[in-house]
Amino acid sequence: MTSLTAPVAATHPAIGARGRPRSEVARDRLPSAREALAACQLCSHRCGTDRRSGPAGLCHAGPEARFFSAQTEVADELELLPTFAVALSGCNFRCDFCITGESSWNPRAGLALDTRTMAAQAAKALERGARTVMILGGEPTIHLPALLELIAHLPNHATLVLKTNAALTAEARELLAGLPDVWLPDFKFGNDACARRLAGVPEYMDTLTSNIQWMGTPTAGGSLLVRHLVMPSHLECCTAPVIRWLATHLPTGQRRISLRQGYWPAWQARRHPELSRHLLAAEFEQAVGWAHESGLEVVP
Ligand code: SF4
Repeated sequence: MTSLTAPVAATHPAIGARGRPRSEVARDRLPSAREALAACQLCSHRCGTDRRSGPAGLCHAGPEARFFSAQTEVADELELLPTFAVALSGCNFRCDFCITGESSWNPRAGLALDTRTMAAQAAKALERGARTVMILGGEPTIHLPALLELIAHLPNHATLVLKTNAALTAEARELLAGLPDVWLPDFKFGNDACARRLAGVPEYMDTLTSNIQWMGTPTAGGSLLVRHLVMPSHLECCTAPVIRWLATHLPTGQRRISLRQGYWPAWQARRHPELSRHLLAAEFEQAVGWAHESGLEVVP
């Protein structure tokens, strides 16, 4: 195994910071997660609406989760591949440039999630050589009851990656603490104005930075790998501040970044003139250069 592909979660056993098997912990938290839907405060929007009987809140998600993709994938970070990736429908962000906007924005897209069946598919993928199981969206954390149920059915030895936009509240953190082996937060914007204009999210920086810091603590468990999609013309306003923040706020061992260069003007990106083109190679090289200069490890 080369260092390039060494798994970030290799040292996290199924019984680690949790002290008990992950499936048991997830199962125990299920009643609280279901109760939380009565006045939903699962993300920083804090809608306080009742989601138990149908779609509600800014994400329009109800009590049940659906998924729009579940397959073994090979296009993420090398150290996580191959990964069996399950994408849950619906999101609490409204990123105009979302590459899966149609399904990500719509919690009714895709198929009903049968957590037991999905966990069995994941187990089969692991047997066939998948290295990790990744749960993503949309945004998976708006579906905490279904997410916990799925985790409860997964084999405890599975290396679980949770890819999230990291808009967690303290309530959501409590339900998720210690469960993922790898936290994979997307640090998309480097300032509040871009987050509000491009994704409809208020108080972005405070929320993201406090959650990313928390994800690096023993309470959160697992390891931390921060993703950042480099966007055209957002180098100075978004990429540079994200790199600066990671380099100055994360402890040495956690200063790792996955810079993504796959931006393309999808979904409703053309509403924004600067996002209506592809990323230039020079822009991506600039981002990588800044990350190296700041002492971050750039994860391929
Ligand atoms: S998950 Fe977030 S956006 Fe959805 S209802 Fe709950 S607080 Fe609102």
